[in-house]
Amino acid sequence: MTSIGFASSYIAPTGSPIRELFPYLSRPGMISFAGGYPSPSLFDAEGLQAAAQRALADPAGSLQYGATEGTPALRQAIAQLCGARGIACDAPDVLITTGSQQAFDLLVRIFIEPGAPVYVETPAYPAAIQALRLAQARIHEVPVDAEGLDVDRLRHQLETAAPADRPKLLYTVPNFSNPSGTLMTASRRQALVQLALRYGFLIIEDDPYGELHFGEQAPPPVYAAGQAAGKDNPVLYLSSLSKTVAPGLRVGWMLAPPEILRRCTVAKQVTDLCTSPLAQAVALQYLAGGRYAPTVERARAEYGRRLQALTQSLRAEAGDGLSFVEPKGGMFLWAACAPEVDASRLFQAAVDGGVVYVPGAAFYPGEAKATAMRLSYATPTVDEIKEGARRLGWAMRQ
Ligand code: PMP
Repeated sequence: MTSIGFASSYIAPTGSPIRELFPYLSRPGMISFAGGYPSPSLFDAEGLQAAAQRALADPAGSLQYGATEGTPALRQAIAQLCGARGIACDAPDVLITTGSQQAFDLLVRIFIEPGAPVYVETPAYPAAIQALRLAQARIHEVPVDAEGLDVDRLRHQLETAAPADRPKLLYTVPNFSNPSGTLMTASRRQALVQLALRYGFLIIEDDPYGELHFGEQAPPPVYAAGQAAGKDNPVLYLSSLSKTVAPGLRVGWMLAPPEILRRCTVAKQVTDLCTSPLAQAVALQYLAGGRYAPTVERARAEYGRRLQALTQSLRAEAGDGLSFVEPKGGMFLWAACAPEVDASRLFQAAVDGGVVYVPGAAFYPGEAKATAMRLSYATPTVDEIKEGARRLGWAMRQ
């Protein structure tokens, strides 16, 4: 088969670095901080079952092929949901996608040719890096600090970039980012929009976690700052029901101007024709049934509790050995070890001790330089979190 010849970017592709950790997870007794999975205990199976029943009561609507853009009623419901997040939009601004991952992939397809420069916040969501790599983009890193993407650094990078290195796209997760957990400040959101307008690039704002805040609501989306800037909005907004309702629905969406949505729709036609109309109908019925808000509220409370258990246990078990900024929402804690720590030895000791996390190197497109780790507190229970932190402390002392 291979003699036929794979396309160049698939000759030696690297798979998801997180999925490569799966073999460790099946070891008996292993405690995992590795997966970015929502807690199954938070799935509202009863509410979704009722929604599915209502969806199936209209077989023509839920079992037939549907419009590539998404069903009109769900696009309307999503526009309303975005309204509650501070975005003024309408059904025609919304493209329903098969998870927000597909929305990102569609944008890469319509914008990126091999060699195209793209700016990406780092540490970054690995599947975004992977999609850009497969498209043979040239990835430039923009670091994240405690206040989100470092916009001053970005300004400097843009000012000093050769014209051929000026990006078309910049990718960021401003709310409780995966993996850094950081929240971008309101002033940085505005400054980022101004840079996009000045240098002529589009911002891909990926927001699966914004509603999962443990205290105050996140500042309005970068998209809203783009609308307020009063010119062509340079922001494309991606979001999803994966982290608030269930990833198994595979319902995500994109907000973008018509000329971009039209091209993404054409790209989506050849990818999957349409997002599952059954999943869309279930999502619509669920949103209309009034259970979304309490479900999200429950997730906020539970993840907040789990985060607290994690930070308290880590302080007790690892002391100064790990430093972190406590996230104000989302599912991830980014914890840094001292720079002299040998990251691969620590990882091996952790696995031997019965705990697994994602090593920081997975979140950088270039040379691995991180002695940090991503700890997800969404899936393990409070007891597992405490025991996992104890094991991690043990590994660090080895
Ligand atoms: N973006 C980020 C930052 C994520 O963490 C994830 C899920 N891990 C996604 C996108 C993809 O989500 P979806 O299930 O909507 O495709």
